[in-house]
Amino acid sequence: MTARKKLQLFDKILIANRGEIALRIQRACREMGIKTVVVHSEADKETKYVRLADESVCIGPAAPHLSYLNIPAIIAAAEVTDAQAIHPGYGFLSENADFAEKVESSGFVFIGPKAETIRLMGDKVNAKAVMMKAGVPCVPGSDGALPEDPKEILRIAKEVGYPVIIKASGGGGGRGMRVVNTEAALLSAVALTQAEAQSAFGNPTVYIERFLDTPRHIEIQVLADNHKNAVWLSDRDCSLQRRHQKIIEEAPAVNIPLRQLNRIGDRCAEACRKIGYRGAGTFEFLYQNGEFFFIEMNTRIQVEHPVTEEVTGVDLVQEQIKIAVGHKLSFRQRDVVRKGHAIECRINAEDPETFAPSPGRITAYHAPGGPGIRVDSHIYNNYFVPPQYDSMIGKIISYGDTRDQAIARMLVALSETVIGGIKTNIPLHQQLLLDENFVRGDFSIHYIEERMKQLKGE
Ligand code: ADP
Repeated sequence: MTARKKLQLFDKILIANRGEIALRIQRACREMGIKTVVVHSEADKETKYVRLADESVCIGPAAPHLSYLNIPAIIAAAEVTDAQAIHPGYGFLSENADFAEKVESSGFVFIGPKAETIRLMGDKVNAKAVMMKAGVPCVPGSDGALPEDPKEILRIAKEVGYPVIIKASGGGGGRGMRVVNTEAALLSAVALTQAEAQSAFGNPTVYIERFLDTPRHIEIQVLADNHKNAVWLSDRDCSLQRRHQKIIEEAPAVNIPLRQLNRIGDRCAEACRKIGYRGAGTFEFLYQNGEFFFIEMNTRIQVEHPVTEEVTGVDLVQEQIKIAVGHKLSFRQRDVVRKGHAIECRINAEDPETFAPSPGRITAYHAPGGPGIRVDSHIYNNYFVPPQYDSMIGKIISYGDTRDQAIARMLVALSETVIGGIKTNIPLHQQLLLDENFVRGDFSIHYIEERMKQLKGE
């Protein structure tokens, strides 16, 4: 009997994504004996990972709205290939409740939470209210959406305390936020954010939070099944960001007492049980002065999931698939063991100083290796990095018994890596990994931008 027969699984999964995560999901499926269908745009037609899949279907031209965001084309591809389930990866349609609903109403399994959960968490005012009720600490701020009365708005902001941040309830991807330092600037900033939110997200609702000046970004990975079981796997520190884009992530977060991490992790797992969460998910927090403040929940697999896999030994993508089939989690919280330290460097096709994208043909490629090194990437020599998509072309993950060992291994790996023909941010990673403050674990979400200003002598 094959492993697949013993554990009832899907026969065939359609992967509605591209690049490294499409390959990551494909690898998980192949290991489990599940056939894969990869949908792709015309720009990705010739790639190796598309050819590696059991089947592939071209769903449209390069422009994302005509292919990777084209819901009817993806559903049609699942129909013609007889796939049973659809894995959305991250980005694209992964947090689109309408897509999840359409997948299920068309007779396929959506590998992710219920559409209603995605919808609930996509509305930040509602998400925050639900989390507060579930006992998850949130950033102090307005009690829900801002009212219309200007006097009330002024009163609320004063009570929260300046500086405040105005945030769009429907916002995402670092958009729809505005920091206000003084009362005089408040009302016009609220009006502007409302107008922007209406045009960008079709929802003018905004709310206010206290603006934290030097927080770290710490997140908690959870897994929950359809049988009321939920566990948290590890925390991750994703503070090293530029323009709200994460660049380096690690697990565990340094300099946070284990007892405090355990407490917040347990709260997250408990919240999952309370809201009937299903699948993999991430609770994102800002952490400042020893306190955690929830900002949002991501209802999908994340780019940085490998660092959690490295320190726990759990394959998160396989767990997503098993949960979607309807299996109970095969382990409990007390079985989760976190061991060692893992770091992920996102490799982007971009200029390391200006961050301008650098698409084009890769003319030389050598991947790193050795103990504790994992490379999640779909690139190869002669691969063409298309200009239409995100500039991330892969991730290097290092693991060590200690953080120092993980850093040392990453530095060796980066020095071995050759990616010719395009620019990458590898030089930036090398500088950051040697940076005294990084090595000490002394940084906030503003660290990269502050450091770049200092280097430029501003
Ligand atoms: P998005 O969905 O757009 O990613 P988030 O709510 O996750 O929005 O916030 C994105 C980023 O904005 C955070 O990682 C942080 O850098 C900043 N931010 C959000 N809320 C606050 C706050 N209350 N104080 C300081 N920075 C904040």
